[in-house]
Amino acid sequence: MAIVPEGMIADLLTRKASFDAVEKVFAAMAAGDAYNFPVVREALGHEDALYGFKGGFDRAGGVLGLKAGGYWPHNLERRGLINHQSTVFLFDPDSGRVKAMVGGNLLTALRTAAASSVSIRHLARADAKVLGMVGAGHQAKFQLRAALETHAFEKVIGWNYHPEMLPGLAAVAEEMGVPFQAVDLPGLAEADVIVTITSSFAPSLMAAHVSPGTHLACMGTDTKGKQEVEAALLGKATVFCDEVAQSVSIGEAQHAVAAGLIGAGDVTPIGAVINGAHPGRSSAEEITLFDGTGVGLQDLAVADAIVETALARGLATVVPL
Ligand code: NAD
Repeated sequence: MAIVPEGMIADLLTRKASFDAVEKVFAAMAAGDAYNFPVVREALGHEDALYGFKGGFDRAGGVLGLKAGGYWPHNLERRGLINHQSTVFLFDPDSGRVKAMVGGNLLTALRTAAASSVSIRHLARADAKVLGMVGAGHQAKFQLRAALETHAFEKVIGWNYHPEMLPGLAAVAEEMGVPFQAVDLPGLAEADVIVTITSSFAPSLMAAHVSPGTHLACMGTDTKGKQEVEAALLGKATVFCDEVAQSVSIGEAQHAVAAGLIGAGDVTPIGAVINGAHPGRSSAEEITLFDGTGVGLQDLAVADAIVETALARGLATVVPL
């Protein structure tokens, strides 16, 4: 079994490798070659923690496994550890023997940012110049870096419910040589692409804030009840997702479906666009929206890429079973 601990991930996983792994597994999902298992999520009744498993099998890539982890809200104050903690386990699909254990914290942020970037690559207008950010927390910085590496944006504009967090986001944009401007919500109409990444349970971004031709990547809603954008926006947009079942139950589409504005049949897995089975954006005026809920196969694909790199460089700790 190969062990790649959390502390080694930053040196082993590039944003490009993460993008490539996520793009490939989204395509495999849409082709029916890879599927996610039902998600398990439990309140432990201990340390107020939420713990669960996200797993899947990519038959095309030969990757089987799960990510185990969750949210421990008191970690930072009581232990000086980050509150999100997870670990990926990979198994040999032929024998069922465990193959690898990989730290899952940084991996989660990079694979989530890769998903929105894949959507930008395949759905944004080629002439998009202004990137809008809604959210300025931990994930937002990863989202911003990945988006700026994916497309040549000339400017970043940002809004956050807690405006005091925006300078952290501005620093990332400026570090990457792109000017940043804080705006109010109507000011986001200037954006050609908008990434939303908040933990909100009520919509911030309304349909009136979004201009024709915009691509949105809605990345924060991954639980029943969370919501970042007005449901009417999904009624106006062409909606894509990572996985339809998750999108309509725990993703941003849950609200538009509940309101009868769209049905599950109106949501297209982005893998179909990557595979060429769906044409993607059809005009310069169309609003496209990617509902990124986060699937286990993203974690497994990226973990597999990390293990391969670690083994090739002789950096993984290999223990006999
Ligand atoms: P964080 O706590 O670091 O940041 C939270 C962000 O939400 C901040 O910008 C904060 O200002 C904003 N916010 C808080 N309350 C709000 C409200 N009432 N209205 C509007 N905005 C509000 O969290 P994070 O680690 O950056 O995660 C952000 C979200 O992304 C979470 O909901 C998390 O579950 C989700 N997430 C999704 C995936 C995925 O694959 N889709 C992966 C990881 C995290």
